[in-house]
Amino acid sequence: MTVSSPSGMLDPAQTPLLVLKIGSSLIVGSDGAPRKDWMDVLASEVAEQRSAGQQVIIISSGAIALGAARLNLPQGGRATLADAQAAAAVGQIALAGLWADALAQHGSVAAQLLLTLDDLEERRRYLNASATLQRLLDAEAVPVVNENDSVATSEIRFGDNDRLAARIAQAAGAGGVLLMSDVDGLYTGNPQDEGCELVPLVKAVDSAVHAMAGGASIAGMGTGGMAAKVAAAEIAGRAGVALAIINGSGPAPLRRLRSSDRGTLFMPSRNDKGRKAWLGGRKADKGVLVADTGCVAALKSGASLLAAGVVEVDGDFSRGDLVMIQSEDAKLIGRGLVEYSATECRKIMGLPLAQHEAALGQMPRSTVVHRDSMVLL
Ligand code: GLU
Repeated sequence: MTVSSPSGMLDPAQTPLLVLKIGSSLIVGSDGAPRKDWMDVLASEVAEQRSAGQQVIIISSGAIALGAARLNLPQGGRATLADAQAAAAVGQIALAGLWADALAQHGSVAAQLLLTLDDLEERRRYLNASATLQRLLDAEAVPVVNENDSVATSEIRFGDNDRLAARIAQAAGAGGVLLMSDVDGLYTGNPQDEGCELVPLVKAVDSAVHAMAGGASIAGMGTGGMAAKVAAAEIAGRAGVALAIINGSGPAPLRRLRSSDRGTLFMPSRNDKGRKAWLGGRKADKGVLVADTGCVAALKSGASLLAAGVVEVDGDFSRGDLVMIQSEDAKLIGRGLVEYSATECRKIMGLPLAQHEAALGQMPRSTVVHRDSMVLL
């Protein structure tokens, strides 16, 4: 059954497993204190969902905001990376305690998972994280996930929990992601401008949708903003996961969603499974392979990328790295795991298979990116 409006996220028949992402401004008040009453009511709503037969994974922001208030750091703890890391270390231990207490009061066992980008980018670690989530859900615990901000430096950061939520949904096989923040959803422009309207349904994320997503978080505590939410919708959508954005500021946001059905629902665009879903959600690209027009047409009809169709190789990558595949007019066509290093690709680009052995001194593989290790975008 497909979710057809934001409240469908709460129906266990449509969404047996829900990933619920909670933005910093909902966890931490403007005075820097945790919004314990709000968390308590939400924990009761999560318990209701679980009794109705829905499994729930919580993605909770708020560590940096909480820690910054406790350490008295400027700019909400985001002035420097070192500040953010220190704030997260102090805030996360408090955040975990708050969730453990709130969930326990309503009969649920909380389980903390802190992840860095690499935990989901590297296939083996991704599978480990999926297995842990699965085991926790089977054991009826409520996973509470956040980025491991105290060790994540800029190169290894997701940077926002919206994308993290989409990747977790993919890893756990969830049916839906509900992003709760301080905005009602996607607006046709800046929500504070007159004449702007809430967009209830997005069937496909195109350039018009990206253009609408210019505004930032109103409370300004999180890092996400609407652009990160739309990026999360794209990651989720490619893996067949619906995503909705709702305003969670008021008390009992799930009950409110059930009655108002207000928010923006992004319909899934495809249903990539397993390895392809993982590839489609990955963030780091080590280089670019530019393919000629004939080759792009072949890729679109399901072929692998062959060296003969490659006209340019950018970047420095090794065998097994993730690369972008672009057309000659610089359009992103897809992503895939490359079979050869950048140096080897440069030696064989443009050459038919019969000449690879002479160019490389060996010829271990026939494709540059195999179609099973590629997603078209
Ligand atoms: N992981 C960050 C925190 O817990 C929040 C990231 C975000 O704003 O999305 O504070």
